[in-house]
Formats: sequence, C-alpha cells, structure tokens
Amino acid sequence: MRRIGYNKAMRAIIWILAGFLFVCGWSQTADYTGYQVLRITVEHPKQFEQIQTLVRDVWSCSLKGRTIDVCASPEERAALQKAGFTWQTLIEDVQALIESQRSDYQPQGDLFSRYLTLDEVYAAMRTLAEQNPRLVQMLQVGISVEGRPIYALRITRDPRGARVYRDRPQVVFNACQHAREWITVSVALYLAYALVASYGVDTRVTQWLQRTEVYVVPVVNPDGYVYTWTTNRLWRKNRRYLGTNNWGQPIYGVDLNRNWGFQWGGQGSSGQRSSETYRGPAPFSEPETYTLSRWLLSLPTLRAHVDIHSYSQLIMWPWGYTDALCYHHATFERIGLIMQQQIQSVHGMFYAAGPIYTTIYPASGNMCDWVYGVRGALSFGYELRDTGQYGFLLPPDQILPNSEEFYPAALTLIEWMTTRRWD
Ligand SMILES: [Zn+2]
Repeated sequence: MRRIGYNKAMRAIIWILAGFLFVCGWSQTADYTGYQVLRITVEHPKQFEQIQTLVRDVWSCSLKGRTIDVCASPEERAALQKAGFTWQTLIEDVQALIESQRSDYQPQGDLFSRYLTLDEVYAAMRTLAEQNPRLVQMLQVGISVEGRPIYALRITRDPRGARVYRDRPQVVFNACQHAREWITVSVALYLAYALVASYGVDTRVTQWLQRTEVYVVPVVNPDGYVYTWTTNRLWRKNRRYLGTNNWGQPIYGVDLNRNWGFQWGGQGSSGQRSSETYRGPAPFSEPETYTLSRWLLSLPTLRAHVDIHSYSQLIMWPWGYTDALCYHHATFERIGLIMQQQIQSVHGMFYAAGPIYTTIYPASGNMCDWVYGVRGALSFGYELRDTGQYGFLLPPDQILPNSEEFYPAALTLIEWMTTRRWD
C-alpha cells in the first residue's frame, strides 16, 4: 500500500516538473518588453565606440549623418542618459510591434503579401524550378552549422544543358546572412520569380538570360532564420554554440558577415563571443561562410555579386575594412548611381550610395570585401527599406513595393555584366 502511495506521489511530482519545464520552455521566447529603438546623435566619432559599450544591440549606423540606431532596454537607456546622450525614439514599444506583426505569421495570401518561413521559402524555390525546368535549377550550395541546406536558384536558358557555361557571365544575389532581416529573403525570392515571369515576355530579360547565369540564394543563414520564427524575432548571427559565459549561461552565434577570410579580424568586428558582431575564432570558421566561399570560388565566370541586407536604404561597395577607396571605385560608383536612379524611379525611394566603411560603418571580414578582394568580382552590399521607422520589423505590406524597386536595380547589374566588361 505504501509503495503505491509513493508511486502516486512520484507521478504527481513528475507531472508538476513536466508542467514547470513546459512553462519555462515556453517563456524562453525572447521578450522585448520595455525595449525601445533609439536614434542617438553623435558629436564625435569616438562616441560610436562608447555607445557600443553601453548598449548591446546596434541596429544601424550612419558615420556621415552622425547617428546610430540602437535597441535599448530601460537599464541601457538609463546608462545612455547618464553618459549625456540624447536621442529620438524610433520605436516606442519593440515587443508590441513584434506582437502586432505576429498575426501575419499565419499562412494566408500570396507569396509576397507576407513573410515566409524557411520551409515555405524552400518550397517556393522548388516549385519555381519544377515548373520551369528549361530556365531554373535548384542547387544546394552550402550547409549550416545545424546541418540545414543552403539553396540557390540557377536561372539561365537550359540550366541542365551544362554544369557550367564558360561563355556565360555569372551574377550572384544572396540575402539573409543576418537572420532578422526578413525583407531580404522576400526581395531575393521576388527577383527570381520576376526574372522567370519576364522570360519570353520582356525581350531584354530574355536575351540576358540566354547569355548570362543568375544565381539567387535567398537564405544564407537558415538556422538563424528559423530561430527568428520560433524563438527570437531579433536574432542576427548564426546558431553556433560557443560555450558558456562566467555565469554559466550558454552563448550562441557568429556574425557571418564578419567571418569572411579577407582582412578578417580588423576594425568593425568583435572578438567577444557575446557581441552581435562576433567574428568567430578564425576566418571561415563557420560552415555557412566556408561552404558558400567554396561555391563562389567554383563559379568560373563570376563577374558580379550582391549581398542583400536591411535596413537603411543604401547601395554600397568595398571596402568595409578601410576608408581607402578600392581600385574599381569609379566603376562601382557609376553602376551604383544608375541603380540608385532605377530604384528612385519606381516608388520615389532614395538609397544613398558609397563605400561600406564611410556609408554605414567599418566592417572587417564582410562578404563584399572577400568577393571583390579575393574572388575578383564586383560586389555590392545593399541595405533595403526602411530608414528606421520600423527597421527590421518592416510591415509585410512593404514587401511588394520594396521588391518592385529593387528589381530594376538588379536588372541594371545583370545587363551591365551581360553586355560590357568592367575590368
Ligand atoms: Zn545585415
């Protein structure tokens, strides 16, 4: 009898524990209650560094405009105030904005009226390839630290006719190195869909796709992207486990866009594991950057590349590691200004153009520097919408207009690479 009572008690304890774990597991979804996004005005360049010691999460920056956007907790705001900083509040209640957009997570509407989960992105890529076998091929071009595939769409006439066409220049577009930049995934996918829809309809696009190969990689950081859907909407880095901190808490994530193997480890990257710009223990320490770099090296005729980020509305090019101008600066600027006009002509949006270092911030070990400096292709870095009103939490009704304005800019680059030489 006593034994049964003991078992019953044990069972009750196990159920209570299970319930407790369930509740804890549930509450591990990141909570941004009390957080605000601030635009801080900076008097002196040295203060950029000071601010980064007071606030963990920098959202954007403008060296020229002397402003920095940060996502700050009440404690961090108090520290900023104490240090004498003043700001404009961009987002009053970060948690409320995240929650207000959560209803949009439900599957509904078409491909570009809402953001897509990783499974939905990969399904949409597969559908496009299956329905257009003579124009589109889906390839795995990399792998993530948690083992997820990184896929590309190869868009060119008769992609299955040859593994490589040595007479066709190659242009690569990739997005979402940073997990929380959801808009970049949709804009990249739109580019692929629009190219396919224009083939056989628009004479110029048809000709370019007969003579050029376009690759689109919508999600470079699939683990981080999944994590932004399941657990923390504002996650930036990949999901590498990095051990524990002094309090025994686990630390995750390398900033993929500081992990590329050209001028790795310099200004604008961090050696601190918990930093949002942690560069990793070595160049290409991460499978995402390593496998993607091997793939880019395997493309024999790669001529141009675009790495798509958000936000701030910028068109940029190397260098990110130094303020010195790169050798092809004039070419970059010429193409960049045409793209700027193309964008503006669609919905009137202005994108500032210039080198990474002076236009946004120093960023050693970024992808554009490697693609240009090592791989030898013209490489642009884009920051999509907006200029700070919503930042990474861009409402889904801007997916379509943002895609529509990016598309002609992408066509400009494809045309240039099809019809001219730049070197
Ligand atoms: Zn980014």
